[in-house]
Amino acid sequence: MSAIQVQQAARAESRSTKEWQQADSSHFIHPFTDHGGLAKKGARIITRADNIYLWDSEGHKILDGMSGLWCVNVGYGQQALVDAASRQMKELPFYNAFFQTSTTPAIELAELLAELSPPQFQHVFYTSSGSEGNDTVVRMVRRYWDILGQPERKVIISRNNGYHGSTMAGASLGGMSGMHAQGGLPIPDITHIDQPHWFELGQGLSRDDFGLKAARWLEEKILAVGPERVAAFIGEPVQGAGGVIVPPSSYWPEIQRICDKYGILLVSDEVICGFGRTGNWFGCETMGSKPDLMTFAKGVTSGYVPLGGVMVGERIAKALIADGGEFNHGFTYSGHPVACAVALANIRLIQQLNLVSHVKHNIGPYLAERFAELDAHPLVGETQTCGMMAAVQLVKDKSSGTPFASELEVGMLCRAHCFGNGLIMRAVGDRMIVAPPLVMTRPQVDEMMTLIKRCLDLTLDELNRKGWL
Ligand code: PMP
Repeated sequence: MSAIQVQQAARAESRSTKEWQQADSSHFIHPFTDHGGLAKKGARIITRADNIYLWDSEGHKILDGMSGLWCVNVGYGQQALVDAASRQMKELPFYNAFFQTSTTPAIELAELLAELSPPQFQHVFYTSSGSEGNDTVVRMVRRYWDILGQPERKVIISRNNGYHGSTMAGASLGGMSGMHAQGGLPIPDITHIDQPHWFELGQGLSRDDFGLKAARWLEEKILAVGPERVAAFIGEPVQGAGGVIVPPSSYWPEIQRICDKYGILLVSDEVICGFGRTGNWFGCETMGSKPDLMTFAKGVTSGYVPLGGVMVGERIAKALIADGGEFNHGFTYSGHPVACAVALANIRLIQQLNLVSHVKHNIGPYLAERFAELDAHPLVGETQTCGMMAAVQLVKDKSSGTPFASELEVGMLCRAHCFGNGLIMRAVGDRMIVAPPLVMTRPQVDEMMTLIKRCLDLTLDELNRKGWL
């Protein structure tokens, strides 16, 4: 253990797990958490991490199949990021980017992002999270059409079961019914179409035919709303929080064709798919679209500090900068120098380690090969992978693809086995998903697959015992 790890361990051990859990449930309101359930059980207290592993306050080692929350692309314990933060904190811990000032890390990062992004992107607007990025998108898109003299273009179309964040605009763009039910959402002029989820909605069609059909739901919606009122379409290249739903390869090119036909802006939410996750720097490159705006966060700093933003395509940047006057929007931490310094170190490390190519040519294809083996398991209806993201759909009847009744919460049963066996794998309904750090090696993929297989078998045994099959 390093000196810092010894210090951390000492802090974690200064109280028992029970004491930490009691203090936690007395004072900490957690995101997306049922607190009744949490208070009974007590939170798992994570105390340290290294590479692709976490340790909890009881000393258990856990393989982190979710990269924290889809963000720790370079893995834990990367000293270059720690050093960048510490250097920048000593030199200039904070200054804002309002009032005609700037800071060197924010400028250097803007240059680097412009270089790595598809060529239509030469400008960035910084935020501190993906949600703020998508709020920025809503304001920027509407401002753009105002500047162009088409203020009636306000409607933004997105998708059911998409996820775009938790602020008022982010949650409205997202298509999560549980979120819309709380807080009077969606806000006006945001409307949704169905998702390109072949397993759920496309059975009976080939994947490619379904992809075209799903994209044409966008055209139907544009015509229903009135093309002159539609400002933009937003989607994740691969839906992450919705369950790692990889669209058919026909989907995004058809979405692009439809956006072009009606002259509406295309927004790619790259908060999960950006920075190598799909085997290219950005998911839109993997999926074959040419967006006007890209939201990013998470992998830009590998989650070591918060940073997000929006890459702004040239037609919008030109309108905002040259023709627009003041854009009345921004955050205290837009372009935070420490966050930008960490992002620079993180991106340089991704380059040095060749992680994008590692995902595209080595570890991504290997993960796909290993996941395909799970198709033979009696509980598995389909598997899907894209780069370093993967999903396993659990079903009651494999031959017909019949799902389990949702109230049985079979995904949660499986997740409990993962927890008990030292693996973080997430359940979205009955779809089990992973998005491991991009630094993963082949032996580590093997180690994860052994755990996943064991947990699927344990779930199968439990379902048999309960008589639910
Ligand atoms: N967009 C997508 C695609 C996301 O997955 C997320 C977070 N999971 C967000 C936006 C919101 O990001 P944040 O939680 O940083 O606000």
